[in-house]
Amino acid sequence: MYNPSSNKAGEFISHEEIMETLAYAEANKNNEELIDKIIGKAKLKKGLNHREASVLLACEIPEKTAEIYELARQIKEDFYGNRIVMFAPLYLSNYCVNGCVYCPYHLKNKHIARKKLTQEEIRREVIALQDMGHKRLALETGEDPVNNPIEYVLESIKTIYGIKHKNGEIRRVNVNIAATTVENYRKLKDAGIGTYILFQETYHKESYEKLHPTGPKHDYCYHTEAMDRAMEGGIDDVGIGVLFGLELYRYEFAGLLMHAEHLEAVHGVGPHTISVPRIKKADDIDPSQFDNGIDDDIFEKIVACIRVAVPYTGMIISTRESKSCRERVLKLGVSQISGGSKTSVGGYAEEEPEEENSSQFDVSDNRTLDQVVHWLMDQGFIPSFCTACYREGRTGDRFMSLCKSGQIQNCCHPNALMTLKEYLEDYAAPDTREIGGKLIMKEIRNIPREKVREIVLKNLEEIEQGKRDFRF
Ligand code: SF4
Ligand code: SF4
Repeated sequence: MYNPSSNKAGEFISHEEIMETLAYAEANKNNEELIDKIIGKAKLKKGLNHREASVLLACEIPEKTAEIYELARQIKEDFYGNRIVMFAPLYLSNYCVNGCVYCPYHLKNKHIARKKLTQEEIRREVIALQDMGHKRLALETGEDPVNNPIEYVLESIKTIYGIKHKNGEIRRVNVNIAATTVENYRKLKDAGIGTYILFQETYHKESYEKLHPTGPKHDYCYHTEAMDRAMEGGIDDVGIGVLFGLELYRYEFAGLLMHAEHLEAVHGVGPHTISVPRIKKADDIDPSQFDNGIDDDIFEKIVACIRVAVPYTGMIISTRESKSCRERVLKLGVSQISGGSKTSVGGYAEEEPEEENSSQFDVSDNRTLDQVVHWLMDQGFIPSFCTACYREGRTGDRFMSLCKSGQIQNCCHPNALMTLKEYLEDYAAPDTREIGGKLIMKEIRNIPREKVREIVLKNLEEIEQGKRDFRF
């Protein structure tokens, strides 16, 4: 029985409810009156439930779809402005005891190079990332209690936060590790992590069990209830996502929104971010073995519908996606992207030799961080290296209430300009620096409060003189 407030995975992600939702959406995909009503509700910018959003995703009326896209653009503009937050993944270890059939790190893959970074190697990787200009990382490890115990992850986080190289520092470490216990989540919280990220992969239980035939990840309920344990362990900000291509996208879309509704119902705060990865080619993995791949048009529609359904939730895409695809979805709702990423264990400090390939997937966007920053600015976006909220204690419901009142905008915009200025001073190529400088001067005018504008101008000057880490 469907119950968003239940603590049982089978009840808050109810298969029957999803199937009914899909039937309802299919029956109404040309129902102009209903679609208008749902778009009208979405215009209030307070979100939609999974049924309403599923109707929009199924909508087959071209003019209505265009309206949904326009609304997504508007909501993106209202909540996130033209800022795009930058991050990079850091793979610590690809040892894994699970059997996920779509991931090259699965236990039975005997020809992929297995690696685990030592603390010294982590230091080198982090210095290389700092020298690119990164301030925000997403840590990734396979699940392996012997090779990657929680103590290893905690020690690595401590190492990362402790590295101060030139003007560089990692100011926010997000963590993407396997579902674990409340006690371990508490330890991660105490280590000062930003967001805890865990992808559901698929919400379809039967498919999930087939796609994860062996290892602890096989347990669908333990995996699906992980965010509840994370929140019980004190982690306020959690990031959810599915791997599009494993199951029917409409099923995943409804499941994703039901998961968000569940977190809101039980913990009073929905997910901090939603990621939208698509299955990619990798060692031992051929995406064509999965029947549910989605093309760029559908991907774009999913992004737009997520944007109107959960306006307050950040949306992330990675370098799995090509430059052209990233261009399309940035305008419709994506608020965070990675840049200059390596998906191998190590590889930032030193290029990995071909025969030692340890990548989790092929990267489609191979540009450097500076090229990505340049490209974003060419399109009128402000690349932001801001990490202020969690460092100012603005997490969980505190963050969400600021977001819902629109007040967060007073922080995001000035912080974006000041952190971009740091980047330009310390890491940018001359032409990037030049267009960035102009962009900052233009965007300062868009800070509504005069007092804030004055502080930002003063801080920008101080950044030029060598001071760092100003924030609102
Ligand atoms: Fe291991 Fe994660 Fe890959 Fe599964 S998806 S094999 S858990 S690293
Ligand atoms: Fe993100 Fe907060 Fe910075 Fe805005 S102020 S960009 S919400 S960390």
